[in-house]
Amino acid sequence: MLDQFGRTIDYARISITDRCNLRCVYCIPESGVTLFDHADALTFEEIVRAVRLLANLGIRHIRVTGGEPMARRGCLTLIEKIASVPGIESVSMTTNGLLLRGHVREAMDAGLSSVNISIDAVDPVLYEKITRGGDVHTAIEALDEAVGAGLHAKVNAVPVRGVNDCDLANVARLAQHRPIAVRFIELMPVGCAKTLSPIAADNVRALLERELGELHPDTKTRGHGPAVYAKPDGFMGSVGFIGALSREFCAGCNRVRLTSDGQARLCLNRPDGLDLRALLRCGEGDAAIQSALQSAIYNKPARHGFGETGDARRMNEIGG
Ligand code: SAM
Repeated sequence: MLDQFGRTIDYARISITDRCNLRCVYCIPESGVTLFDHADALTFEEIVRAVRLLANLGIRHIRVTGGEPMARRGCLTLIEKIASVPGIESVSMTTNGLLLRGHVREAMDAGLSSVNISIDAVDPVLYEKITRGGDVHTAIEALDEAVGAGLHAKVNAVPVRGVNDCDLANVARLAQHRPIAVRFIELMPVGCAKTLSPIAADNVRALLERELGELHPDTKTRGHGPAVYAKPDGFMGSVGFIGALSREFCAGCNRVRLTSDGQARLCLNRPDGLDLRALLRCGEGDAAIQSALQSAIYNKPARHGFGETGDARRMNEIGG
């Protein structure tokens, strides 16, 4: 459907849990984290009903995220249910990959169309420090399992000044001999990231060019999002840049979000969405809920307003 600014909204990111097996420094505090009560999380039936209503409104692509989506029991069963909703053309997942390793084929059989694996450093010590305990070898094994099985795969990395700048070119090199895109996402000031320093997309690009040589525009690589792609000489894959702040892409934003506690968000940075869980649980019929969703999506805000507005929620709660 079109929103009030004429943007086509056809993509929904659904956080299926706020739980994660890692504690990435820019995403979730090491300890003292209050997690949603299990009863507050949408059930599979509620998520699938929401997807059905969203599909009726023109949503065609779903991304399952979290928290760590694979940390929710039955994640692949849920993917299968979502993939079979009429109108849904693709179901992808954003994951740290650790719990996906060994399950790629099963995920594809369930209907997973593509996967984004988050790898912020390839140096094992640095990765362990950033994720507070993760093993980068497992993440790379999951990536290779996906590539080997022919699953469309990308890598996400968030450059943070003074944290992983030294290893970004090595992260980019994951695309040297693999047919994948490694995307660098500007750190957004959400939750604990507010105290860290982003590296603007242009500066990441300059940093990569110093180590990898000139980057040539790559217009062939595309996703459902705002990344701009380029290719270093001799690379099988490409690198991508998502300038969430430095190259605001709100004018072309095509997405809505659903948090794991059932709040429909029209923008990552705006808490004033729709309490879908309340509607799903109060006995409302499909027509009324769909109409509420339609009006919420129509009123999607023009801009994210980072720096002007914001809320106290962490990325693992909203769904990155
Ligand atoms: N656990 C999964 C993972 O690691 O990919 C999915 C959830 S995670 C919140 C989804 C994505 O959001 C990851 O690629 C992560 O790097 C990114 N992310 C988290 N906090 C961010 C922030 N403040 N700015 C930009 N990206 C962020």
